[in-house]
Amino acid sequence: MMKLWEGTIPLLAEEGWRDSLIEDGAPGWSARRYCSADLLLRLRPIGLALRATPSALSLGSAHPPLLCEEGHKFHDVAATFINGTKIAEDIKREVASELEDLKHRGIQPGLAVVLVGDDAASSAYVNMKAKTCEQLGFYSRKLTMPSSLSTDQLLCEVRKLNQDDAIDGILVQLPLPKHVNKHAILESVDPQKDVDGFHSANVGSLVLGHETLVACTPLGVMEVLRRSGVKIEGANAIVLGRSDDVGKPQAILLMHANATVTICHSKTRNLPDVVRQADIVVAAIGKTAMVTRDWVKPGAVVIDVGTNKVSDRAEVQRLFGDDPTRWKDFEKRGYIWVGDVDERGVKEVASMMTPVPGGVGPMTIATLMKNTLKAARTRRAV
Ligand code: NAP
Repeated sequence: MMKLWEGTIPLLAEEGWRDSLIEDGAPGWSARRYCSADLLLRLRPIGLALRATPSALSLGSAHPPLLCEEGHKFHDVAATFINGTKIAEDIKREVASELEDLKHRGIQPGLAVVLVGDDAASSAYVNMKAKTCEQLGFYSRKLTMPSSLSTDQLLCEVRKLNQDDAIDGILVQLPLPKHVNKHAILESVDPQKDVDGFHSANVGSLVLGHETLVACTPLGVMEVLRRSGVKIEGANAIVLGRSDDVGKPQAILLMHANATVTICHSKTRNLPDVVRQADIVVAAIGKTAMVTRDWVKPGAVVIDVGTNKVSDRAEVQRLFGDDPTRWKDFEKRGYIWVGDVDERGVKEVASMMTPVPGGVGPMTIATLMKNTLKAARTRRAV
């Protein structure tokens, strides 16, 4: 895989950019200036030869790759991996700083997390949320209930939290046991404290474009896109998946950000062809590495929401070859987390993509913290 170009190279550029490229082609020409995802998507060959120094063409980690042509052969440069962990840390720092200000005014916003049953993964998520709350300076309360709890009993607990003035945000960890009426529970949360953004009042406000509490994962995806400098306005965005908690709100958020949005699901015909039209792909289907290289338009930005547990050695080998990091994780835990996107293939054509783990995952907790702060500010009018 080629990382840099030296000497005279034919660049690919849209006609409209030709003059500025020529103008800037002299010694100080910088690929970075033109190497936006937006340009990348609009590049086409004009056979223009420019002399550029290797340093001018070196691509910083914050920039997407430039596809350049040598003869008629494309040399792909690996996609920039968006560091979701770093963006999440930035958001948490911002939240902590606002909490510090509120503390000086005698205000400490609080989040209650409700766990029903003893599912190990849910328990780990709840602990992580509670711990992050405490680290940032929120008041945190964790309620653990037995899986035998009835819908009525859980409704009663949620109503108590609705009335509790110390609590600004309520999160009922999903999935709930099968006998519990999930819809009734989610609808029982005071919309002002609904930091998951699942209440129909908040979903309705989102659709109408009103300021409201929005589901954490799609909100996190928007933060990732914006903070990575991805141009959303005018882009063709494909959302793979139409779930209530990810796909639907994601599509609405992208639409409000002026993308042209297509929502795909299990009944979509010619899915790869549809996805290939996208400048931005958000994959949230829960199917291991289903989005492969040939589905992705060169230069597209690919956001991988999928979190799939892979515990089969042969599957790890197929997806990651001898990648030492993956194998280290696998040997340690007996499984690894893999997204809906085939990382090895797609990084060859995408301009930017989120890894799994370390992409969208950490963002979900960060946006939960942001939502809790927002809920507190709205409810307490501070
Ligand atoms: P979900 O409720 O199971 O929804 C999956 C969606 O994908 C459905 O709309 C389904 O279509 C569609 N789909 C399934 N198979 C498909 C196929 N073969 N082709 C096209 N579409 C297909 O899942 P979810 O809750 O949205 O979660 C999706 C993924 O994101 C999961 O891996 C989940 O673990 C992950 N996730 C991650 C985070 C995070 O913080 N990183 C948060 C939430 C979810 P139909 O509607 O037609 O059935």
